[in-house]
Amino acid sequence: MTLTVEEARERLGIGRSTLLRMLSSGTLTGTKTHACGTPCGTPDTCKQGTWALDEEAVEARLQAGKQAS
Ligand SMILES: [Zn+2]
Repeated sequence: MTLTVEEARERLGIGRSTLLRMLSSGTLTGTKTHACGTPCGTPDTCKQGTWALDEEAVEARLQAGKQAS
């Protein structure tokens, strides 16, 4: 399963910029696809496209956060 940026933000309770930072650092994983259907080659810098985040990575992050607090 994959999540949109908005869904992942809601689950984690974080802002968009934090979530995008987690994606570029590899804390969260996913695939970014342009509207034409082409996978984005430079997701860290490209301003276009839509993320499909791996739900597993979001859930793992959620569990890690619970343990830390
Ligand atoms: Zn792109």
